Amino acid sequence: MKNPAPLLPLATLCLSPLSLFAESTGSPFYGDAPDETHPWAVHDWNRPQPPLVTPGTPSTKSEAGKPPSDAVVLFDGKDLSGWEADKSPAEPTKWIVKDGAMECVPGSGYIRTKAQFADCQLHVEWAAPANVQGESQGRGNSGVFVMGAFEVQVLDNFNNPTYSDGFAASVYGIMPPLANALRPPGEFQVYDIVFRRPVYKDGKEIDHGYVTVFCNGVLVQDHTKLEGGGGHMRRSKSGPFPEQGPLKLQDHGNPVRYRNIWYRPLPPRISEGNTDGQLSPEATMAKRKEIAASIRADAAKKADPNNTRPEMMRLLESLAYESDAAAMEKASKMAAEYTAAILKTPAAQMESKKGEVMQTKQAFDYLVRFNALPGDFAPKAALDKLVREQEWDKK
Ligand code: MG
Repeated sequence: MKNPAPLLPLATLCLSPLSLFAESTGSPFYGDAPDETHPWAVHDWNRPQPPLVTPGTPSTKSEAGKPPSDAVVLFDGKDLSGWEADKSPAEPTKWIVKDGAMECVPGSGYIRTKAQFADCQLHVEWAAPANVQGESQGRGNSGVFVMGAFEVQVLDNFNNPTYSDGFAASVYGIMPPLANALRPPGEFQVYDIVFRRPVYKDGKEIDHGYVTVFCNGVLVQDHTKLEGGGGHMRRSKSGPFPEQGPLKLQDHGNPVRYRNIWYRPLPPRISEGNTDGQLSPEATMAKRKEIAASIRADAAKKADPNNTRPEMMRLLESLAYESDAAAMEKASKMAAEYTAAILKTPAAQMESKKGEVMQTKQAFDYLVRFNALPGDFAPKAALDKLVREQEWDKK
């Protein structure tokens, strides 16, 4: 068997001046074109920019940090107006707020958010009582119930063994944490949770859901499959699941404290209709059509009888996403006219056209390479000939 080619460090990759230009200016005709399951090209500048989020600040021992700018704050240390007792009908909670934290009042029952949500990045900080009492499941027990159903265990396991699937940061009854990364009791522990609910369609599971958890910055649940809600003694089973639910915190008889609770909703998964990623062939084609239509709308805005090249280039670009007879006809006509005009440039001025001719040729080459233009595309042959004659293809 042939040895695989060694991976080159990026610094040693030799990019041509044209490629460097394309990479830094956002020119299309650069990375691999859209294909059967990828609606975007590689390094596609048409792909939306990520939304801006101003990051928060980390918490210290004595002070809660700031959430990121797009977080939905569930508890900011001041009041419980967004919370209620987990009872039906709802009633005010008996949990109390003290020194910037909410505290479980044993015997008062679970507390839940009035807000309902589902897939999220969830941030929760909790502290077991500094006054250590009890052992195993009896020491500083509470729980973070995402969507009111999936318990990420809260327990003072600092020098306190218990059954491993009931450890702090276990998915209770399902999966022990990968590590015990707890601080001593009395200090706040930080859970950062990425939660994806089970998705059912027409009563059929299409995604079982999963949860990832960091405890004090240490990975403790790695994309753990959800198997129903977990629970005590009995093995839980997956089943149809609501689209939203509240966040619940458990009263397990210990005065556990919480602070700095917030979440960021996550975008839908591809199984729920998101189109940013590797898709089914049908979804890819639908998205490619949509992208092509938007590029063509942009091309129309660039229409200028005195300078047709910007519209032509954009129209050509749309062909990499969708083959469309009208767009192909118009782009071909514009390309033929553009090439004819270039060929009429007086010899003394031809050198000044080198840059745009080379970029146009690159576009033609790219579209032929990815079968968006026919191999015998006449304007390409004309530009290829011009480039050879001018020796622009020689270094
Ligand atoms: Mg618990």
